[in-house]
Amino acid sequence: MIRTSRMVLACLSASAITLAAQPRPDFDLVIRGGMLIDGSGVKPVRADIGVRDGRIVRVGVIRNPKAAEAIDVTGLMVSPGFIDVHTHADDIAEHPRAENFVRMGVTAVVAGNCGSSAADIGESLATIKQTGVAVNYATLVGHNTVRRAVMGTVQRPPDAAELTKMRGLVWKAMADGAVGFSTGLQYIPGAYADIVEIITLAREAAAAGGLYASHMRNEGTEVEKAVDEAIRVGRSAGCPVQISHLKIDSPSRWGVSAKILEMIDAARASGVDVKADQYAYTAGSSGLGIRFPAWALEGGEAKIAERLNDPPTWARIKAEMKDLYTQRGFTDLAWAVVATYRPDPSLNGLSMKQVAAKLEGSDSADAQLEAARTMMLKGGASMVYHFMGEDDIARIMKHPMVSVASDSGVLTPGEGVPHPRGYGNNVRVLGLYVRERRVIPLEEAIRKMTSLPAQQFKFANRGLIKEGYAADLVVFDPVTVGDTATYDAPHAYATGIPYVIVNGVVVVRKGEHTGARPGEILTITKTGGTRNEERVGRVDRVIGRSAEGVSIWPSPIMRVGAELARRETVVRVGADLGRPEQQFVGATHREADRVG
Ligand SMILES: [Zn+2]
Repeated sequence: MIRTSRMVLACLSASAITLAAQPRPDFDLVIRGGMLIDGSGVKPVRADIGVRDGRIVRVGVIRNPKAAEAIDVTGLMVSPGFIDVHTHADDIAEHPRAENFVRMGVTAVVAGNCGSSAADIGESLATIKQTGVAVNYATLVGHNTVRRAVMGTVQRPPDAAELTKMRGLVWKAMADGAVGFSTGLQYIPGAYADIVEIITLAREAAAAGGLYASHMRNEGTEVEKAVDEAIRVGRSAGCPVQISHLKIDSPSRWGVSAKILEMIDAARASGVDVKADQYAYTAGSSGLGIRFPAWALEGGEAKIAERLNDPPTWARIKAEMKDLYTQRGFTDLAWAVVATYRPDPSLNGLSMKQVAAKLEGSDSADAQLEAARTMMLKGGASMVYHFMGEDDIARIMKHPMVSVASDSGVLTPGEGVPHPRGYGNNVRVLGLYVRERRVIPLEEAIRKMTSLPAQQFKFANRGLIKEGYAADLVVFDPVTVGDTATYDAPHAYATGIPYVIVNGVVVVRKGEHTGARPGEILTITKTGGTRNEERVGRVDRVIGRSAEGVSIWPSPIMRVGAELARRETVVRVGADLGRPEQQFVGATHREADRVG
């Protein structure tokens, strides 16, 4: 077939004369001798893979290949590249090698999660495309980003004009190439939004074919209510729901994951496409501010300081913080460990118990809360929280609709003591949960890293090893693949991943980053660019055909809303959007670098 079409081309094209003089190999790359796990969930089979122009063009036995490069992977496994749909890789243009991701087999990341994204999606995607990055990249548009741009951090519902502006911003972000709408309902100002606001904005994403991804309002004491809210948003907005970093974060609620998964199954049976993602660790990571009551964090840094410095108000805040952790089954904050505290890096890696001893001269529960206050007054910190149980992790992992996703940002080796998931998540699943504990079979783990997330995020021609699909591939050693990053020493790369290929280009060769940057921008329907005009045209066509089949709003109104919001945003950008990390609870530093 290929030969015939080349002959036809040769007849048609004058430039083919040059080709004929110096025949191009059949393949740019051939991967031979491996066991192939194609991403669909079926058992591995022995097969070779031929790659040309960034695509998989042959799967099967390739004898005597004429290839520019042939890699013998006898004894190793080959799978599709891992698609990490829950990341905070928004600043990838500043770290284009994305080495922590690519070294654990990740070939595509989705940023813009937990309600936090670039303010201008089109501009951000253009920058990333221009810079060139090692992995494929897609982004959601974040609710906190949009709300902050229009309303700042006030705790009240939007008025009609504000809601129209927010709708306009989400509409524009989708037209610019976002793949959906995300919330971070435990963060400021997302925590101040009610479900009506969220549904209204999620409908914008739905109209453009996007999904709704949610860092829910609660992941422990009231997790059932939070899951119910996420499902209702999907049902009313008419879009798929992705529950982000599904977990049970309170010892007092450990075990309730069984009920949560039943809720997801019931919603799916009733027609709402609910899925989830998960990282494979018993600790989470987020800002220190998430431990404070939401009302205490309204209005920005100065207001927060005012409350923390007013003794009666601080007493009230402290009492609520104590109530919150008591309800969750804790007696103090010893489970909270500092990841990055910029004013005093000597605290990095210490638990709040150790921090309290150092800062307050006592490690009592009260001293720990006082230390948290001190740190908040200096801009907060990025934290690692040890609060999950292994049984819940295994139960969630076994659910067929739960993808594997890291919740990590692009990490800089040696910087701070971040959560190890950014270096180890995928390979930890393969090493610890598949090989050692046998929680799920290997082919199922690979499906959860590849075709499952590709389907949910509508990445066409990704996530399977199949002819015509993009050549995003991982070669791994099933015997040695694993994580070496630990909570104490997280800056350590995965083992057992000798080759990673992105769009047909080798990015990891013999375990080392080649420096190549073949990543593409992924959108809902196509790869290779944001294609604003096409997307806008597509949005125009789908407007008026919501899931309920009724017209929601005519596009000219949305254009006006977008323009109004854009104008105001430009003014605000200098004031408070210049540091997008401020979207997270009360942060002045990059406390929420790694969230969730
Ligand atoms: Zn999150």
